[in-house]
Amino acid sequence: MDSCKHLIIGAGPAALAAAQAIRTCDKAAGITLVTREETLPYSPAVLPYLLNEELTEKELFAKGRDLLAALKINLICCKEVAAVLHETKEVKFTSGQCQAYDKLLIATGAAPQIPAIENLEPDQIYTFRTFSDFEKLHRTLTDKQTVAIYGAGLVAVEAAEKLCMAGHRVTIIARSSLLRKYFSPKNVAVLEQAFSRHGGRIRTNNTLASVRKVEDKLELMLSNNEKLVVDRLLVATGVTPNLIDNDLIPVIEGGLKVGRHMETNLPDIYAAGDVAAAPSFYDGRNAPCPILPEAVLQGKIAGANMAGKVVEYSGWIPGNYLRCFDESLFSVGLTGIQSGSRYKTLEKQAGGSSLKLIFTDDCLVGVEALNMKLIHPGVFLNLIRKKIPVTEYQELLLAKPRETACWLMLKQGKTQAV
Ligand SMILES: Cc1cc2nc3c(=O)[nH]c(=O)nc-3n(C[C@H](O)[C@H](O)[C@H](O)COP(=O)(O)OP(=O)(O)OC[C@H]3O[C@@H](n4cnc5c(N)ncnc54)[C@H](O)[C@@H]3O)c2cc1C
Repeated sequence: MDSCKHLIIGAGPAALAAAQAIRTCDKAAGITLVTREETLPYSPAVLPYLLNEELTEKELFAKGRDLLAALKINLICCKEVAAVLHETKEVKFTSGQCQAYDKLLIATGAAPQIPAIENLEPDQIYTFRTFSDFEKLHRTLTDKQTVAIYGAGLVAVEAAEKLCMAGHRVTIIARSSLLRKYFSPKNVAVLEQAFSRHGGRIRTNNTLASVRKVEDKLELMLSNNEKLVVDRLLVATGVTPNLIDNDLIPVIEGGLKVGRHMETNLPDIYAAGDVAAAPSFYDGRNAPCPILPEAVLQGKIAGANMAGKVVEYSGWIPGNYLRCFDESLFSVGLTGIQSGSRYKTLEKQAGGSSLKLIFTDDCLVGVEALNMKLIHPGVFLNLIRKKIPVTEYQELLLAKPRETACWLMLKQGKTQAV
């Protein structure tokens, strides 16, 4: 019998995780990744580290190169898929050529969303999603420059930190405050102070009203009427899923609707990562959750199901891990809970660190931490995802988070094994 032909559109973290999962289940399957980029696979989340040379280009591509060789994966570069022809089980490239598949994964990620700004010409701005975006920006940053970053999410904050560290003069323009969706105002203030200490400037509660080119500079007008003159403008105001021309898969909140096996409504077609609108862990609502851990997990689940296993996705859990200058912050799960709601909150603070745990009656549902350097967010993510009962251990979890979380995981493992 011929081996199954798995075709994966994309070569990002979701695609690679899927390819690994397929290969684990099926040693003989044909696995092909197709990407419109010209490079080996890489993770966009580490691109900021290239800006201050904490990471080299060789290191960026090392994992992808090694995985392709070890797992015998075929990579097709510089080919953009224009359409999925599900009736003939083919994808059609922009060149007009077609490629057949038995099982297809759409892992096309997301692209920067550019807001409407008066007078803005596309060639006046930089975005930061792909290696080629990095190259374009890096080429122009020959000297110490003034850079404005419009946006307040992970990409904006990480790029701003690395550009500051590389000696550029950076101003962040934020429509509200930095990483507002993930961190409490107290922790956001710590982050903002860290930027100020390192020469960064932040303009919160401001939008970018207009842009005007003045010789080789850009004059930016903010909504509070402040004028900034900068060398470069980086726009990082969010992302939108990269859809492929196919009206037959329902789109929810911009992403492709998938079920708990990462399957779409079309036979043998799956979607995973930033492009997918998968069910939420908490309420089953379908929406994209464009963060790295979920892209990897969804890719893994999709790959296993494509290879014939039956594996269910428990749903996306929002989260964020950030090391910014000397501060490290993370949030996992439901963190924006108001006091007086049905959730119970325990908090502790000591010196420059703090920990907040949020519980329902039985389980942990959210964690926010500042400078708890010995605790990995993954430990809490596991407690939440596995719904491990913690009722009697809430105070202990706050007092000795790392030890208690690990012990609870082990205890649960033993109970399940009995
Ligand atoms: C600068 C930056 C920093 C980030 N930091 C973090 C972080 O700290 N923590 C975190 O959780 N997340 C972070 N993220 C988000 C994280 O990188 C994404 O969630 C993750 O990359 C999603 O993986 P993916 O495989 O779904 O998509 P992507 O990584 O975007 O990969 C998509 C792939 O599809 C290909 N493609 C797209 N359309 C087509 C087409 N039509 N034909 C062929 N190929 C196509 C692309 O070329 C690419 O290979 C960051 C992202 C960026 C850009």
